[in-house]
Amino acid sequence: MAKPLVAVLSGAGISTDSGIPDYRGPNGLWRRDPEAEKLVTYAYYMGDPEIRRRSWQMRRKNRALTAEPNAAHRAVAELERSGVPVRVLTQNVDGLHQRAGLPDRKVLELHGNVREFVCTKCHARGPMEDALARVEAGEDDPPCLECGGILKSATVMFGQSLDPVVLGEALSISKACTVFIAVGSTLQVQPAAGLAGVAADHGARLTIVNAEPTPYDDLAAEVVREPIGTALPGLLSALAGQYGG
Ligand SMILES: [Zn+2]
Repeated sequence: MAKPLVAVLSGAGISTDSGIPDYRGPNGLWRRDPEAEKLVTYAYYMGDPEIRRRSWQMRRKNRALTAEPNAAHRAVAELERSGVPVRVLTQNVDGLHQRAGLPDRKVLELHGNVREFVCTKCHARGPMEDALARVEAGEDDPPCLECGGILKSATVMFGQSLDPVVLGEALSISKACTVFIAVGSTLQVQPAAGLAGVAADHGARLTIVNAEPTPYDDLAAEVVREPIGTALPGLLSALAGQYGG
């Protein structure tokens, strides 16, 4: 029997056990605090040096840079190691799937990542720790060393489009997969959320693991409300038993 392709769409809920709050979801911290939301809104960031200074101070304290993967991240990495083809589409920017052992090429980061900085002018990139070291050393809004442009984290801010290459690849995976598991996502932020619908339309078996109802629950073959940290390892080890080896 041909091996299935398992697609896992992960949202903020998979990382809350790692101590990372939901920042950007519909009820996330940023949405509830207009001043905080400005720090991650592209037009404000580009237009106001004070917003950038506060953003760099926020990045210094970003828990995502020091958080550890939890049982759910490890379960996804273990499924991949069991021989089942797995691709992760994540709305998270914390890099915890990779830190749990999943190869970089298996993870599509729909909203970018916090491990790197990027220049808004020449698109030069580098490790976030290099930019933060400059902030620690006294540059409160460090400019690009290549071109003098404004630097930001390599995340997709509010008001920015998703990378069309990443999104195109996510669509292809959603169409091709046999199993699509949406975990810890309210499935309310487009276009990422629509991937669950695309997968179901193309015949994938849709499983939703989320504490709250989502707009796609009716399309799902299975809806799981139990805590992700215990529910996902069980679900994925059953898949590994079925398809792995
Ligand atoms: Zn530059």
